Amino acid sequence: MSATNKVLLVTGGSRGIGAAICRQASEAGYRVAVNYVSNRAAADALVAELETGGGEAIAVKGDVGNEADVLAMFEVVDKTFGRLDAFVNNAGIVDAKARVDEMSGARVERMMRVNVVGSFLCAREAVKRMSTRHGGKGGAIVNLSSVAAIHGAAGEYVDYAASKGAIDTMTIGLAREVATEGVRVNAVSPGITDTEIHASGGQPDRVARMRDVLPMKRPGSADEVASAVLYLLSDAASYITGAILNVSGGR
Ligand code: NAP
Repeated sequence: MSATNKVLLVTGGSRGIGAAICRQASEAGYRVAVNYVSNRAAADALVAELETGGGEAIAVKGDVGNEADVLAMFEVVDKTFGRLDAFVNNAGIVDAKARVDEMSGARVERMMRVNVVGSFLCAREAVKRMSTRHGGKGGAIVNLSSVAAIHGAAGEYVDYAASKGAIDTMTIGLAREVATEGVRVNAVSPGITDTEIHASGGQPDRVARMRDVLPMKRPGSADEVASAVLYLLSDAASYITGAILNVSGGR
């Protein structure tokens, strides 16, 4: 699979699943824009790694939940590469384990702002650049959902699960909206994947703890999720749009 010269922007591309997507995309020939929000060292290290491997990459700081940051991020990509062929809505957050009757309004609003509003704002900017309706040459979008959208994450983080339910619905609706405009929109729904997101939600032992309830008795790796994303971005998936692909080891 060669994507020579194509340009890909990955939100939250600096760590975890996003970083695996950036690595695989760079190997496939994409020029890669790596978005991050605060950990500049991780983003710079990844860009250096991709460049050492012969790829072309930039790091772009920006909070997807902040509209001005989203506009600025896409403008940096425009100025640097002059085109956008592929976009991955990967940035996402969890919060501390809590029941719904323990959640503050501020917590739920932050969850929805980053995971839902951020994904909408970024998808809007990607469509404006890719859609033939806007003079673009077409492209592909992949959104990171979660199987939590289906099982609900009771007692853990129903707010997060609901935010991913919104991503599933957005994927289907946007896919149909731009289906005749050269843009395909799909989602990948990971199950428990071994990244730092669990520690950031205050559960560093979550992957080890959940292992026995997973059908394959192991978590997924960021690379296994990234492979599905790269497939959906590629021409091999040319008749696939509005799909939600579980990469969850049967969970
Ligand atoms: P992660 O390891 O915590 O990495 C998160 C990435 O997103 C980092 O690059 C981080 O940047 C960035 N980020 C966080 N908030 C941001 C914001 N407001 N604006 C821009 N970037 C932001 O996460 P992950 O596990 O790879 O998860 C990636 C996606 O997969 C998320 O949407 C998540 O919900 C989904 N997912 C993950 C799992 C899992 O088990 N890991 C399961 C299902 C779905 P900094 O480095 O600057 O902090």
